[in-house]
Amino acid sequence: MTQTPEFGRFFLPGPTEVHPDVLEAQARPMIGHRGQAIEDLLGRIQEGLEPVFQTTRPVIVSTSSATGLMEAAVRNAVPPGGKTLSLVNGSFSERFSEIVEMCGRTADVWEVPWGGVHPPGELADRLQRGEYDAVTLSQSETSTGALQDLQAIASVVADDPSALLLVDSVTGIGGVKTMTDEWAIDFILTGSQKALALPPGLAFGVASHAMLDRGRSIADRGWYFDLDQLHDQIQERQTPATPAVSLLYALHYQLSRIAEEGIEGRWARHLAMQERTFHWIDEMGGNGVDLGVLAAEGHRSPTVTCVTIPGGGSPAVVKEMSSRGWVIGDGYGKLKNSTFRIGHMGDHTVEELDELLDELSEVLG
Ligand SMILES: *Cc1c(COP(=O)(O)O)cnc(C)c1O
Repeated sequence: MTQTPEFGRFFLPGPTEVHPDVLEAQARPMIGHRGQAIEDLLGRIQEGLEPVFQTTRPVIVSTSSATGLMEAAVRNAVPPGGKTLSLVNGSFSERFSEIVEMCGRTADVWEVPWGGVHPPGELADRLQRGEYDAVTLSQSETSTGALQDLQAIASVVADDPSALLLVDSVTGIGGVKTMTDEWAIDFILTGSQKALALPPGLAFGVASHAMLDRGRSIADRGWYFDLDQLHDQIQERQTPATPAVSLLYALHYQLSRIAEEGIEGRWARHLAMQERTFHWIDEMGGNGVDLGVLAAEGHRSPTVTCVTIPGGGSPAVVKEMSSRGWVIGDGYGKLKNSTFRIGHMGDHTVEELDELLDELSEVLG
């Protein structure tokens, strides 16, 4: 076996680095997926997930990647032939709109330049002009590092008589202050492998009453991603199908670590890492290395920064970092040559980030 690299060098914006103790927590014997043992485990997991989502509602646990719950959101909120207003500002929000279309619904795409966000005021106008079953968006657009103003958007959508708000919060929940109940979000989802710093393979979501009602009214919403069934069963500490039991062990353990830090502490740590990254970019500018941040000021995600290199050549930077034993993210899609991404999320600290930035300074200098 090759030697395990030390923790603190893997800054991919997903999957993120998993603490060795969390990895280890998976290595326990199987339990049946019916019975007291799993019910106890799922019960403790619910308690841990509630503060993470800032909700008192049941948190659905799905054995799938996050995209599975994006598809669930569409199938349960939009009847076949129905329509969404899909806010697109990068690859993942674009994927959400594609899921709408591939499920036989119609997506009215409202695209803004990648790196930008959608002004809530204009959203109100657009909702008035069309009849929409739902609005889709990515709160934290991992491909660009842009952060939507979810609270303001939610309050606009709440005024619409028919549209439900479907939120991909995959690099939000666990790293970005997000108030599911207080902001009255209809459906919000995340995956295990981003800000929650777990191995990939689980997804979590919270559905409002209105969302569940809508789902029940759609006869052919499917089985595996039937939110009504997932919701009902998790209330009974059950899942409709066999869950990824080993990942539940890791989740249970990681939730105890999150509780120890406190969710507010976790949000604050992510803001501190973001600030440190911006500060470093300024320092680099002072040393004659011209870098920028793709996302507009005031609309930047605390979990991921998409750094622009005006002269291009970012793949060479990512590669050189890799040969030195450090992992950062490539630019995504059409941003591949001009950006790289730092995933300052999950269990990383400012101190670890400092070491990464020192190394990057050398590579760029
Ligand atoms: C990673 C990511 C996804 C997709 O998650 P999977 O778990 O790979 O399905 C969706 N949206 C955003 C914002 C992401 O960062």
